[in-house]
Amino acid sequence: MNDLKNLCTQVRRDIVRMVHAVNSGHPGGSLGCTEYFVALYGEIMEYNAANFDMDGKGEDLFFLSNGHISPVFYSTLARNGFFKVDELNTFRKIDSRLQGHPTTHEGLPGVRIASGSLGQGMSVAIGAAEAKKLNNDNHLVFSLHGDGELQEGQIWEAAMYAAGKNVDNLIATIDANGQQIDGSTDDVLPMGDIGQKFAAFGWDVMTIENGNDLDSVIAGLNEAKSRTGKGKPVCIIMKTEMGAGVDFMMGTHKWHGVAPNDDQLADALGQLSSTLTDY
Ligand SMILES: [Mg+2]
Repeated sequence: MNDLKNLCTQVRRDIVRMVHAVNSGHPGGSLGCTEYFVALYGEIMEYNAANFDMDGKGEDLFFLSNGHISPVFYSTLARNGFFKVDELNTFRKIDSRLQGHPTTHEGLPGVRIASGSLGQGMSVAIGAAEAKKLNNDNHLVFSLHGDGELQEGQIWEAAMYAAGKNVDNLIATIDANGQQIDGSTDDVLPMGDIGQKFAAFGWDVMTIENGNDLDSVIAGLNEAKSRTGKGKPVCIIMKTEMGAGVDFMMGTHKWHGVAPNDDQLADALGQLSSTLTDY
């Protein structure tokens, strides 16, 4: 567990360094979802990083729907052996496999879907989950979505379908940070009780109250796994803090898609001192 907590700190260092290096990218949501990614890839999912293939038979699958938080995704993939950690140096550069928003055509191991256009990942995850059933593969499909992303209509078509077709091998997590690109979700478009909405569509809904506490995230994901196979897709409302781990990035939407300058990077790294090795 200490190893995974140290890894959270290291992933956060990677995030702010990657975004700073190219003065571009999305640190806020990445920092907020760090515990989720570290838990998912370090403790929860069964996968084969060394021999990645797009079919993914016989392993658990993950689809990132809110693709703009690519820094946390790429760091986690690299730190779990999908590709060399050094490649994080190429983030958002010309001809890099680490595009600002993930794409499949660069062939980066671990990336199964192009995302960034919001609202689409749940549909893909549902299709993959149904394919697993058809293939008699009892592994699970995980997906992650922003709360602001839920304002896309396709999400609710997908939610209706998944419940109607008993896609009960899917665990969709909502990053409930209450923020989106232009402000708080309540200011931009109030959505009411998101959990009640998914429940009304027929999902089994649960909550992770502190999505920035690694133990809580691991316990919550294990609880979600125990709820699969019972006829309903599972939705986790995971409460996080955008910018978690860097004090001046927390509690605001303003770091959704802004890179730190040199002084801000130094400040951030000073707060993330329990390091493994920087790329
Ligand atoms: Mg959000």
